[in-house]
Amino acid sequence: MIVVVGAGPAGIAAALRAQECGARVTVIDDNPNPGGQIWRGDDENSWVARFRSSGIPLLSSTRVVAVDVEARSLLVETDGVSGRLSWKKLVLATGSRELFLPFPGWTLPGVFGVGGLQALAKTGLPVAGKRIVLGGTGPLLLAVGAYLRQHGADVKLIAEQANIQSLAGFAPELLRHPRKVLQGASLQWAIAGTPYRTGCWIDSAEGVNKLERVTVRSGRDIWTEDCDYAGVAWGLTPNTELLESLGPEPEDVYVAGSGEVDLSFVEGEIAGLNAAGYPERTVLLAPKLEKARGFAAALATTFALRDELRHLAKPDTIVCRCEDVTYGELRKFTSFRAAKLQTRCGMGPCQGRICGPANEFLFGWETGTVRPPVFPAKIATLFSDAPLPADTTGQPDTKEITS
Ligand SMILES: Cc1cc2nc3c(=O)[nH]c(=O)nc-3n(C[C@H](O)[C@H](O)[C@H](O)COP(=O)(O)OP(=O)(O)OC[C@H]3O[C@@H](n4cnc5c(N)ncnc54)[C@H](O)[C@@H]3O)c2cc1C
Repeated sequence: MIVVVGAGPAGIAAALRAQECGARVTVIDDNPNPGGQIWRGDDENSWVARFRSSGIPLLSSTRVVAVDVEARSLLVETDGVSGRLSWKKLVLATGSRELFLPFPGWTLPGVFGVGGLQALAKTGLPVAGKRIVLGGTGPLLLAVGAYLRQHGADVKLIAEQANIQSLAGFAPELLRHPRKVLQGASLQWAIAGTPYRTGCWIDSAEGVNKLERVTVRSGRDIWTEDCDYAGVAWGLTPNTELLESLGPEPEDVYVAGSGEVDLSFVEGEIAGLNAAGYPERTVLLAPKLEKARGFAAALATTFALRDELRHLAKPDTIVCRCEDVTYGELRKFTSFRAAKLQTRCGMGPCQGRICGPANEFLFGWETGTVRPPVFPAKIATLFSDAPLPADTTGQPDTKEITS
């Protein structure tokens, strides 16, 4: 059986392609609904609808905390149930999360990742009438700005750190993707009237116990914007922990996604075809892959983070918010390992998921030494040797699953 971890665009594509080839597939995702970061909650999305009607079992609200490559099993934890699920082929399509860079005040209540702010707004955080500043980089700023405005927020400023020359350089690549031109135009329309400044970023956030204002910088200009919320977007960082925990080149494990949506989808299709034993069919996807890679590469170049952002943190700025470790403490060290041993940086509940990528950006440190479990898990889960019950897996018979 093929097990796909992740029900975002990459996981959905992998599962559907593998099923088309006649393979038995099960998908696991730690969210209640399929769709991943971009399509979650969007039941009108045609791929989500196709996945839902495919009959492929989805173990939702279920998290993979460890992979045993030799035993070909996953250790999974779901509501009240934990156990092992066997696989013959494994597709890891675990997506990405937001990158957070420390700046003074970034830990104040009211400062969010821009994707997190949108997710909260979608799940009930009232934004109507709230004064919001968005800052950072990339198209997600526009998408979230448009969404917040549609829901009555007063989006005071969108501060894009890339400069106008970089954005202009993106135009030729964008023109190869007419659908994206239309999406971009509709976002521009939706945020019409909201100040959008390029070469501009949030320098610091201030307030007593909660956010009251941000200081914004553009060239030599520095000014403050009073606001209730700030959404920051410094880019994304891939969820590679499960993969890294497997050691080098594990057999029968395929990886897909975590990038821009079209690239994630085609990578998922390729992973699904390979896992199902039909690598020759991937040849037809080569042009689609090449086009999606071109777009993703252009995005990465256009929205590359500027050097000035490495110097936003002050000595007393928290970098590791789980263990309260400041920038001033960290800069005494020359490696993440040394910093970790002396300060406990990266050793809190998030296991360095937030501060690890920030440390890589700030100091150029390599931070990855992942050990299972890759997420905090119940002791009972860690000692669990039993296969998951058949009614949890959605498959007819657990014996078949483990065979
Ligand atoms: C907060 C946020 C908002 C975004 N919004 C947009 C947007 O508006 N527009 C856009 O073009 N792109 C957006 N992106 C980029 C987006 O990630 C990609 O476009 C696309 O979703 C990538 O697809 P994917 O399948 O690779 O990953 P994802 O969509 O991230 O799907 C991966 C899935 O795997 C699950 N998962 C991860 N680890 C485990 C585990 N151990 N056990 C079980 N399940 C696991 C995750 O919860 C997730 O549901 C956003 C990214 C983030 C982080």
